[in-house]
Amino acid sequence: MWTVRETTAKSILTPVTGFLKEAGFTHSLTPARNCTYGCLYCYVPTMRLFGGLQREDWTHWGQFTTLKTNAAELLTRSRHAGQVIYCSPLVDPYQPTERERPLMPDILQELIRRPPAVFVFQTRGPLILRDIDLVRELAQASTVRISFSITTDRDDVRRRYEPHCESNQVRLRAIRQLRDAGLEVYATLAPLLPCNPEALAQLAIEASGRDLIGDPLHIRPTKAHGATTRETAFEVARRYGEEKWLEPQFQIEIVESITRRAKAAGLDFSVGPAGFGRLARLR
Ligand code: SF4
Repeated sequence: MWTVRETTAKSILTPVTGFLKEAGFTHSLTPARNCTYGCLYCYVPTMRLFGGLQREDWTHWGQFTTLKTNAAELLTRSRHAGQVIYCSPLVDPYQPTERERPLMPDILQELIRRPPAVFVFQTRGPLILRDIDLVRELAQASTVRISFSITTDRDDVRRRYEPHCESNQVRLRAIRQLRDAGLEVYATLAPLLPCNPEALAQLAIEASGRDLIGDPLHIRPTKAHGATTRETAFEVARRYGEEKWLEPQFQIEIVESITRRAKAAGLDFSVGPAGFGRLARLR
C-alpha cells in the first residue's frame, strides 16, 4: 500500500516547454508529486529536480505520493482564459490514491468557474468515470479531451511493466463509457509495450472510434536529452527477451504497422508532438 503525504504548493499551473510546448500546450497542471501507479518505465523519476521532484521521489518512485492539497484554492487566484492545459506530464490525475483522497472534483469545480480554452486529461485511471458529470460540465465551457493510455493488448505484459494499473479490458471499457457519454476521448498508445501492434490498434479503434495517438518507449538513440525510460523497464525487457522494443528500427516498424491498421480504418496514427498536438488543438 501507498503512503499519502500532503503539501501546500506555491503554484499549480506551470508554463510548459519542450515536447508539450511543441505540441501546442501553454500550461500543465500537476495535482501531486510522485505517482502511485509506479509504472516500471515511467520517465518522470528520470527528470529528478527538473520534474520538480525531491530525492526520495526518484529513489522510491510509486511508493508514495504528495498531494498538493491547495490545488483548487490556487486555481481560484488565476485566470485561465486562452490557456491550453495538460493534466499532467508528471502524475496521473486519477492515480490510485485519488479514490480515497480526492483532489480532482474540487479542481474541476474551479475550472468550470474559470474555464481554460482547452483542458486535457492524461490518464489511465478508470476512476475518471467517478467525475464524469463534472467533466461533462467542463466540456460545456471549454474544449475537453481525454487522452486515455492503453499500452499493450497483452495483460501478461501489462502486469510486468505496470502492475498497479487496471487491466487492458477495464481501461478499454472506460474509454467506451467516456465516448458513450459524448466526451472526446482518445486511445493513446503510449508507451508502446510489447504487443501485437495490429491487434492493439484494432482494440483502440473499436473503443475510441478516433484517430490514434502514441509513442514508443523513450530511448537515448532517438531522444538524446531529457526524460527517458527507467532502468527498471530495461531490466524486465532483458529478463523476458523483449529488448527489441527498445531498439529504434524495431520501434519504427511497430509505428508503421499501427499506422497501416489505422489507415485501413480511415484513421490516422501519429506519434510525438504531432500526435499529442491533436489534443491541444483550439476549436
Ligand atoms: S501513470 Fe504515468 S505518471 Fe504515473 S507512474 Fe505510470 S507513467 Fe508515470
